[in-house]
Amino acid sequence: MASREWETWTDERVAIQRDGQGEGIREGDVYDVREGGKWWPARLACGESGWYLIAEDGRRCWPLVSLWRWQALGQGKHWEGVLSGGCGSVACAGTAAPGAAELIEQLMADISVLLIDIRYAARSRWFPQWNKSYLLKRWGARYTHERGLGNVNYRDRDKPVVLVNPGPAVEGAVDLLTKGFSLVLLCACDGEHMACHCREVVRLIEERLQQVMPDTRLSAWMRRVIGGGRVGRASGGQASLGA
Ligand SMILES: [Zn+2]
Repeated sequence: MASREWETWTDERVAIQRDGQGEGIREGDVYDVREGGKWWPARLACGESGWYLIAEDGRRCWPLVSLWRWQALGQGKHWEGVLSGGCGSVACAGTAAPGAAELIEQLMADISVLLIDIRYAARSRWFPQWNKSYLLKRWGARYTHERGLGNVNYRDRDKPVVLVNPGPAVEGAVDLLTKGFSLVLLCACDGEHMACHCREVVRLIEERLQQVMPDTRLSAWMRRVIGGGRVGRASGGQASLGA
């Protein structure tokens, strides 16, 4: 990426895929990007820092999404390069669930999906792949650790769920959902633990989304492990929220 001047731009940008390119997102696809009232023909490309759109004359770059470091949602530190039609969805993945790493890889293959770490402490004593530093390295600007959505009482399952400071992060999450991005909430449960705070976080997001977009149905789903290691939306653990 030759230029990082996009970081200073604050007006809304829209990217629309040209017709006839089929579903999904592929390198080289042509988009029209509107910025500051002007349209730019651009191509989708994948670089070191992730996917981005680059103007055909090479003078502009737009990352598909940028969550600026941690607690990006809570501090409003995100920038979107692409808006799609329709509302995104929310999925939960717990680090203790067998196959969680594979599930996240699968979900994140869609570049409009973001990984939102809602653990109070974004680290794992035994599994380095669940440490913040690793996740940041793996997913870059599509990962953020939102401690505001963490559970203060995470060490003690007998104590009630108390979220650190959910308000701003919920607001940021809903903002991204309305723009078409989908979120994977990363907690530490195994998908079976009904009292995990991930359920409370989903509830808050759903509640706020319905205030912002009353006609929208958030299809959130919880992963549950059936028979061990099976992943996917059809695993029987679907929780249809807002229905
Ligand atoms: Zn959980």
